[in-house]
Amino acid sequence: MPFSKLELHPDLLRGIKELGFTRPTAIQADAIPPAMAGRDVLACAQTGSGKTAAFLLPILHKLIDKPRRTTRVLVITPTRELAAQILADLNDLAVHTPVTGAAVFGGVSMGPQEHAFRSGVDVIIATPGRLLDHFKQPYAKLPGIEYLVLDEADRMLDMGFLPDIRRVLKHIPAKRQTLFFSATMPPPIMTLVRELLHDPAMINLERQSKPAVGITQALYPVPQELKSSLLLTLLQRGEMQEVLVFTRTKHRANRLHAFLTKNGIPAERIHGNRSQAQRTDALAGFKKGKYRVLVATDIVARGIDIEELGHVVNFDVPLVPEDYIHRIGRTARAEATGDAFTFVSNEEESEIRSIERVLGKRLPRVTIPDFDYKAKAAVALEVPIAERIAAIRARKSDERARAKEKAARRAASPSAPSATASRGSGPRKPARGRTPKGSRP
Ligand code: AMP
Repeated sequence: MPFSKLELHPDLLRGIKELGFTRPTAIQADAIPPAMAGRDVLACAQTGSGKTAAFLLPILHKLIDKPRRTTRVLVITPTRELAAQILADLNDLAVHTPVTGAAVFGGVSMGPQEHAFRSGVDVIIATPGRLLDHFKQPYAKLPGIEYLVLDEADRMLDMGFLPDIRRVLKHIPAKRQTLFFSATMPPPIMTLVRELLHDPAMINLERQSKPAVGITQALYPVPQELKSSLLLTLLQRGEMQEVLVFTRTKHRANRLHAFLTKNGIPAERIHGNRSQAQRTDALAGFKKGKYRVLVATDIVARGIDIEELGHVVNFDVPLVPEDYIHRIGRTARAEATGDAFTFVSNEEESEIRSIERVLGKRLPRVTIPDFDYKAKAAVALEVPIAERIAAIRARKSDERARAKEKAARRAASPSAPSATASRGSGPRKPARGRTPKGSRP
């Protein structure tokens, strides 16, 4: 079916054509007509399915000929990256229309976002926390909202945002059209759906938990401590050019990034402890080809939109199958092809089995000829917990011993200058606050 069948405004069709979209994806073909007819929509959609355009296009269609200066659309998303990505998609699709949008998320200054509220941009795309911060201010009123979109609702649930979403809902009109997108529909999400949606058109609900087609998936069994070397080997042999690598923790992301950089692979990292500016730079550098590897934690798995990303590597096996599907949805976006490799240590076999159950098939297992699977680890990404605890205990007992010694010394000569003061070159006097009681003048 061509886009023209959807009866979208000609100015939108121009934007779509310039983006090179020739026909609607399945979710677009299913969701756009009921949304244009004014119905609430409940859609089960993975990233990579074209879901962003599925909710933006019908809304843009309705906004085009409306007077401006009132915010009519609120899109709520879990992460900053996703908010920024949706805004970029909106700007692309709406390029030949007067419709305006702004993204509202934490980690950057409130000022320009305040301006967006005051000037009444047509569409606000927000993460829940920052939106609630704005709602504390008198300028942030949204009485004109006619369309609400909840994107990646299940991810917002995972991130603990459900109470925030309920708070946000108190600030916007109850009479509105709601478009609700989620990759999975666990019970708390269904409760929210029943509260929010009226007689929704249901899209794709039976097709959940299937990754996009065109992805070649493979497992690489490897001892935990050799995962870094295996990745390096695959990169050095040119088996993958650019690759998005997911690790389980921020710490592992940092260590892996350091390991790759030390071994001459241009790499960056992106996770919850990085500032917004650092995340944006990392992503932009990766998209431009400055970095071959972008190491990321799950928090950003959704919302990273990179065209023609050939490879995703799960450096660690995701704990839940849905995360696996989301991560590998980063490759093979909308009908392209890509590879998704998952490194599996012995300890991770049971997670792999649940993933295979959800996928309904066994994944092929690959070993690399002449990779030394028995080698000693080049670096340990993590100091084992027992060793870490032992190190902390040793440090603490050392500190206690030193404090004891110091107290004993002070007791022996109450007027002795303190260590800090003695380092100075001027006349010696006891440092403030360090003088033992009783020796003060
Ligand atoms: P999304 O699932 O919204 O994150 O979109 C996934 C990717 O597919 C984005 O890079 C879009 O630009 C692209 N895309 C969306 N709709 C289409 C379409 N109809 N044809 C080709 N690509 C599309």
